[in-house]
Amino acid sequence: MLTSQPPVAPAATASAAADAAPLVRFRGVQKTYDGVHLVVRALDLDIRRGEFLTLLGPSGSGKTTTLMMLAGFETPTAGEIVLDGRPITRTPPHKRHFGMVFQNYALFPHMSVGKNVAYPLTVRGVSQVEQATRVARALDMVRLTGMADRLPSQLSGGQQQRVALARALVFEPQLVLMDEPLGALDKQLREHMQIELKELHRQLGVTFVYVTHDQGEALTMSDRVAVFNDGEIQQIDVVDRMYEAPSNRFVAGFIGDSTVLKGTVRAADDERCGIVLVDGRVIAGVNVNQAPVGAAVDACIRPERIVLHAQAAGHRGNLLQATVSGVIYFGDHLRLLCDVGEGQAPATVKLPLATPVVPRTGDAVWLEFPPEFTRVYR
Ligand code: ADP
Ligand code: MG
Repeated sequence: MLTSQPPVAPAATASAAADAAPLVRFRGVQKTYDGVHLVVRALDLDIRRGEFLTLLGPSGSGKTTTLMMLAGFETPTAGEIVLDGRPITRTPPHKRHFGMVFQNYALFPHMSVGKNVAYPLTVRGVSQVEQATRVARALDMVRLTGMADRLPSQLSGGQQQRVALARALVFEPQLVLMDEPLGALDKQLREHMQIELKELHRQLGVTFVYVTHDQGEALTMSDRVAVFNDGEIQQIDVVDRMYEAPSNRFVAGFIGDSTVLKGTVRAADDERCGIVLVDGRVIAGVNVNQAPVGAAVDACIRPERIVLHAQAAGHRGNLLQATVSGVIYFGDHLRLLCDVGEGQAPATVKLPLATPVVPRTGDAVWLEFPPEFTRVYR
């Protein structure tokens, strides 16, 4: 990677170093609402300048609380939040100058779209002439050109969220915070807006911090994803690594689909381990969390990584005989459900529609679990 970059001129070095410094830094941030239960535990999080970062996790995992502390609507119980090197832990929201879009952050119903979008400029004392230019530009940006005189009630849900987005962007904030902004939209519109948001982020180069519980949404839009569970970040990574290389069992289960085989470690080194399944069969995989011999583990593999064989391919390892228990048509692919034996949940195998010979329910098949894609978690 380094060798493919153009040489950096000495004059640019200082600004390159400044760009590399995180825009926001959470240091040891904790939050409790009741004085007993920590809903955010020791949170250390760097938000990079210009990135699209998504906080992803199940309901109640502390995503909104984290975003609210960043916005200034909640105060951390402990720790510090730093913006551009300056502590903002106790700075009130309006002095942080962040753009915000929330599912329940409604538009002013009695004000026109134009007035709604202009609102952040009005409170900042921007001149009427300047306001008109910037509102028009913001409405263009979210593809609502010419809608300034309408009332919010005259717009669809998707258009209303675009107005909220225009309002969040109109004063050119360096950071835009969004909490489940597409949650109220139907699936098709939501997917459409995901692409628009990502494109807008690319055009503007502004830093986006986005909260969702929808892993598909997170993977589609983000540069990096921080997976939350129980008030803690489980993993923060670029999207493809998050899917290909989950660092613990929670992330492996939360992101994407997995086939899971339960077993016990029989041999292990730092990289790989062999596990015995309850029925005595043996497979090998990546020893993600350095599980020791004797540990109860789950071997997880993505459905598209399992290789289907009609016959035992004798020279290959990590093969398990299984029986097809169902074939499900998904429109763009097929899924086989396979019974892999005693004590195991069914294995899911993803097949292209063009698979020449699709096994049928009741057929015996051999499933190959390539060890490099079989990730063992304790
Ligand atoms: P998420 O956005 O991931 O669903 P939240 O940050 O909203 O999670 O909530 C984390 C935990 O904090 C939950 O158990 C929730 O019930 C609790 N919580 C959130 N807001 C408040 C509040 N204002 N007062 C008391 N408890 C709260
Ligand atoms: Mg929330």
